[in-house]
Amino acid sequence: MNAVYAKAVLALGSNLGERNDTLSSAVADLVDPPEVRLLAVSPIIQTKAVGGPAGQPDFLNMVLTVETSLTPHELLKHCQAVENKHHRVREVRWGPRTLDVDIITYGDVQSDDPVLTLPHPRAAVRAFVLYPWSLIDPAATLAGERISALAARAEDYGDLAPFDGFGDFDGMPTAGAVTER
Ligand code: ADP
Ligand code: MG
Repeated sequence: MNAVYAKAVLALGSNLGERNDTLSSAVADLVDPPEVRLLAVSPIIQTKAVGGPAGQPDFLNMVLTVETSLTPHELLKHCQAVENKHHRVREVRWGPRTLDVDIITYGDVQSDDPVLTLPHPRAAVRAFVLYPWSLIDPAATLAGERISALAARAEDYGDLAPFDGFGDFDGMPTAGAVTER
């Protein structure tokens, strides 16, 4: 019998340790089981930490779209297992973390269960989720609005910067810079 696959959107963030390596290997881990198939991977963007303690390192964020035969709660457990594998330590709410994996949407499931709220309750106001998501899924909507329009209105939109794999964000985007030889 063929399994039924649902489309899900996952948001990944890291602001501790080797952030880029963590995201790369987390993507591989998330789509490793046959129950999770990769659809698309966004570029990595860099952004200031929102909320939580001041002076945190910048985040790297990205979004994946997958199709999965896992149930929403099974998918959450899988995401948490991948977080744990990357030594995520939960100390301070919204504090620095080696890896955060959030489920943004799962099909058109709506849930206000605090263990798994769907769509993710803060996704519609987070440009660091909406913008990379819009690059791989431009027609997507949340609460009846185009995600690119929501991104442009989000408070943190101006804090996003491209990430070219080198150095840290000092307020000036570095991706796309061309060095003359
Ligand atoms: P946050 O992602 O809000 O910074 P955490 O990653 O520590 O914080 O998540 C706290 C709890 O949020 C998790 O234990 C999880 O059960 C719950 N949660 C509720 N909805 C979701 C969702 N859509 N995706 C991921 N976690 C969720
Ligand atoms: Mg989380």
